[in-house]
Parts: sequence; C-alpha cells; structure tokens
Amino acid sequence: MIVMKFGGSSVQDATAIRRVASIVAPRLAEQPLVVVSAMGGVTDKLVQVAETAARGELLPAMALLEGIRAKHVLAASEMLNATAAAAFTAELDSRLAEAGALVRQIAEQGTVSPAQHSAMLAFGELLSSVLVAAAFAALGVPSVHADSRKLIVTDARHPAATPLAPPTRTKLLEAIPQLLKQNLVPVLGGFIASSESGEVTTLGRGGSDYSAAIIGAALSADRIEIWTDVSGILTTDPRICPKAQRIEEISFHEATELACFGAKVLHPATLLPAIEHDIPVAVLNSHKPGEGGTIIRAVAAQGVSAFRAIALKKNISVFNVRAPRHVGSLRFLDDLFSLLRWHHLQSEIVAISGATASVAVEGSRELGKLITELQTLGEVDFQPEQAIICLVGEDIRGRVGIASEVFGVLAADRINIRMIAQGSSEISVSFVVDEKDAVRSVQELHRHLFEEPSPRPARVPSLETAQA
Ligand code: ADP
Ligand code: ASP
Ligand code: MG
Repeated sequence: MIVMKFGGSSVQDATAIRRVASIVAPRLAEQPLVVVSAMGGVTDKLVQVAETAARGELLPAMALLEGIRAKHVLAASEMLNATAAAAFTAELDSRLAEAGALVRQIAEQGTVSPAQHSAMLAFGELLSSVLVAAAFAALGVPSVHADSRKLIVTDARHPAATPLAPPTRTKLLEAIPQLLKQNLVPVLGGFIASSESGEVTTLGRGGSDYSAAIIGAALSADRIEIWTDVSGILTTDPRICPKAQRIEEISFHEATELACFGAKVLHPATLLPAIEHDIPVAVLNSHKPGEGGTIIRAVAAQGVSAFRAIALKKNISVFNVRAPRHVGSLRFLDDLFSLLRWHHLQSEIVAISGATASVAVEGSRELGKLITELQTLGEVDFQPEQAIICLVGEDIRGRVGIASEVFGVLAADRINIRMIAQGSSEISVSFVVDEKDAVRSVQELHRHLFEEPSPRPARVPSLETAQA
C-alpha cells in the first residue's frame, strides 16, 4: 500500500480536490490511503476563531465559523449531486454545531485553554477529510472516511502532541487493511489525533506530513507521498529565490536537517518514522503532477553542488552568556540548560568557547525573567530579531574550504555573522545573522552555490587513503 498526503493548497477548493481525485484514481492498484490537511487557510481562520472568542467577541467568532462553513458548502456544491451535497451539509452542520458550542464556552471563560485550542483547530481536518471522501465517491474513486481521532493515539500535550506508536499501530491495523481489501481508499484527516483518555490533540502546525509518515510506518507502506504546491524539495524556498532548483534525490538526514531549520515543505518529525522503517518518501506537486518531484531515501545520489540546499529560520533570539568565573565548568552548562528547560525553550544552535556560551532559541517572546536568571551565571547579552541560515549537504563532510567559501560570500556582501555551528554529523553548517540581512544572505549564497557553482573543494584525505 502507499500513503498519499495532500496539503492545504492541494484541497483548497473544488478544482484542487478534483485534481487530487485525478492523481489518486490511476493509482488504485497500489492501494492508496489518502491523508488530507484542512482546506487552505482554514486552520489560520480557526486560530482566529479561538482568539476572537477568547476576547469575548462571540458574534465575530461565529461569523468566522460561518465563513468556514460557506467555503465547504461552495466546494461541495461544485462537486456533489444534490443528495450527496445535502448529506455532506448535514454532517458539516453537526460538526459546526460542536465548534459553535466550543466557541460559546471559550467566550464565556474569556480565555482559551490549550486543550480547547487543539479541539478548535481539529475541525479543519475533520471537515476537509469528510468533504474529500464524499468528493472522491462522486468523482468515481471508491472511498471511505476514517476518523483519525480514533486511529492515531498521542500523549496529552498541547499544541503538539507526541504519537504513541504501539496503540496507534494496533488501531490502524484493526481498521485499515480490511478497507484496502475491499478496494476502498480510506481518507483521513492529517494533524489530528486523540490522547489515551480520548481528548482531541494535534501534532503541531504543519503536522499532516507527520500523520502521513506515522500511518505509513504503522502499515508498512511501500512509499509515502507528500503532495504539495511545489515540485519537490528545492535548493531553497522558491519564495525567497525564484531560481531555486528541484532536488531529484536527497537523503533522510539532509531533509530532516532542512526541515528542522525552517524548510516548511516538510514537518521536521516527518522522516523519523520513515527512517525507522526505511520507507522512501516522495515530495510532489499536486498542481503540476507531471513535473516530477524529490525522492528522499537513506542514501541519495550526489547533486551539482557539494551543498544540497539552504534553509532559513526567522524569529530567532540569541543569548551570549559570559561566565569567566566558571571557565571549563560543567556546572555552568548544566545550570544554563536547566534554565532553558525551565522556561520551555529549546536551543536551536549552541556554541561554547571557553567561558562563553551562545544559544539561539526560537521566538522573541518576553524573555526578561530568563535574562535576570541567566545573569546569576554571568554577563548576558541578548539579541532578538535574528535568523538562522542552514546549509545542508552530506557531501560537505570533510571537504576543505567549505566554511571559507560560504563566509567569503557573506563578507563580500558585508553581512555580519553572529554565531556559527557545524552539526555533529558534519552534514550542515548553520549560522546566525540579523533578521534584516537574512533574505539577502540566502539569495547571495544561492546565487553563488547553485546558480553559478564553483568546482567542489577537495576532500581532506582520510587516514586510510593517505596511507594507501
Ligand atoms: P502544504 O500545505 O502542502 O503542507 P506547505 O506550505 O506546508 O505546504 O509547504 C510548501 C511550501 O514550503 C512551499 O510553498 C515553499 O514556499 C516552502 N518551502 C520552504 N523551503 C522549501 C524548499 N527547500 N523546497 C520547497 N519548498 C520550500
Ligand atoms: N492544517 C494544519 C496546519 O495548517 C496541518 C497541516 O496542514 O499540515 O498547520
Ligand atoms: Mg505543510
């Protein structure tokens, strides 16, 4: 069997959903299971619904829900016959009645709890999956809706719960193979799940990719396909560099590193289940299905440049802590990381040298309390509005002059680098620049490394080759 996941823009309206049906229809012999995101823009609207209700603005929140209803009704009316459209609208209204009840509760409380926030966001995938299943049936693709909240089990953390593999596998194996045997295409909402006690959870923003991978791993899929709005993983975000090029093949590790450092095309956790079960993952364009995409596998063929791609993560803050009293002291680092943990901050990159530690974290939230606590360790310098640029490539491992090439490009453009880190696996180099310089830096690096690449630098000879 195969898992085919279609993101928000792939199911944004009737035209897009028809295209999805035409991509799935010729693949029935491979026993596809389809995972869908909420219709494009709906999750963001649901965030607004929750926030508006939490401000006590009940009527505006209800009006936003009405807009979501209208989007689904319009798409249904363009694809379904009168009977099927009426059945869909009845189901839509029953789910929206639950959403309305939640809105009223939030408005009365005047605040939204993390659990209520997840429950609200979950309506997006609930509605889209019911709609896509009905559309498939109307368009001649035999299908059945399956409720992810009953099949994917997670812990009870919000807003990004962690899947529990054994109970998820059991539930999926009980439900899905019998549907596939009947030649039905199961259609599931991505992103949503339930805790063991039955509370609705989500896998965090962008989490439908992760749902597809969890399902693929549990059912030992032959292949997981992520259908999106770009023709695969590109050498960088095409919104930053229109000349970004399609990468034919990329390794699991390279793709994970890119996703962790901001390449939105894949949710960062997506590849873990695929790596564990060695399932190839393809990234493809639902808007241009004939264009080919990217295949992600354990070992990937070399590309044009020693680098595979560039990722950019904005909204970063950097702390530099100087603690001369603690030179070489493990206690200093221990205290530093305890404080970060206490404030629920995950370090994106860390650089330690002598008595100074620099830590880049996501967000520029009010970090005043943390700064005061860090000052008990030493002198603290805090820089908000930073960005991380990450260059990835298995082929950079052990090559001479990689860093000087990269930093030379930025120096020529007078871009100041605040912090540098090389991943321990040596397949990435990350550095921090001012957020205002970030896009320009990526564009310059992309032009230099991919649009006019110089010959690969030589490899540092290993001991064995040196002796041979
Ligand atoms: P979906 O809704 O299908 O999950 P996303 O918006 O989450 O789609 O991800 C696709 C987007 O990821 C693209 O439109 C592109 O702007 C962005 N992106 C960032 N980095 C890359 C990259 N290296 N290659 C391709 N797309 C990228
Ligand atoms: N709909 C969710 C989001 O917008 C999950 C996803 O699309 O992957 O974040
Ligand atoms: Mg996505």
